Amino acid sequence: MSIAQNIQTIKEKLPEGVTLCAVSKFHPIEALQEAYDAGQRVFGESREQELCQKYEALPKDIEWHFIGHLQTNKVKYIAPFVNVIQSVDSERLLDEINKQAVKNNRVIDVLLQVHVAQEETKSGFDAFDLEQLLTKTNVSERWPNVRLTGMMTMASFTHDEQQIMREFRSLILCYNTLIGGPLKEQGITKEQFKTLSFGMSDDYHIAVQCGSNMVRIGSSIFGARTY
Ligand SMILES: *Cc1c(COP(=O)(O)O)cnc(C)c1O
Repeated sequence: MSIAQNIQTIKEKLPEGVTLCAVSKFHPIEALQEAYDAGQRVFGESREQELCQKYEALPKDIEWHFIGHLQTNKVKYIAPFVNVIQSVDSERLLDEINKQAVKNNRVIDVLLQVHVAQEETKSGFDAFDLEQLLTKTNVSERWPNVRLTGMMTMASFTHDEQQIMREFRSLILCYNTLIGGPLKEQGITKEQFKTLSFGMSDDYHIAVQCGSNMVRIGSSIFGARTY
């Protein structure tokens, strides 16, 4: 199957209103161009250097999402052009994204990544800590050049679908808590804070059932990655 066919097949399975973020990490420019030619415009990358190279080489109407672990000292490289940073998992990172957004005279959209998996290795805010942070912080004062547009998570790497479902549901719970609590208090509405990014190649069918409106799919589009 070609990349174009894979995208077509996935899109047919996605309910209306669910955005496909094509995760192109570790795949060459040509593969992304093929997806682009098939109409794909939202791409996810997980390493800043790779993202910068691909940004330079590819058409400028692509929407670039950063989805990997981001070190604060690397924010400056992607801040001039990145559309969404999905993997924001600390207060320090928010401070740095804001600082670099100011320098570039931009507002950068971010998703708050929450840790729901059993594996300790996965990153993300603890749901309770995040609620505390957003309760004690005046978001528009502290991060005026950051726009909180939703949340992101990754489920455990398991075949236990019930467990994956529980983990996705805990993200929805966290979302509801924030949007009905600290975010509401600060005037951040569901119209702004609307993206729920969860679901990958192996679990996106579960994710959309649980209310995801953005799936991040790599291997089912581009094939296996060679690291
Ligand atoms: C690699 C990656 C994906 C895509 O994974 P696939 O299993 O290839 O679909 C999605 N989200 C994040 C955060 C990733 O790092």
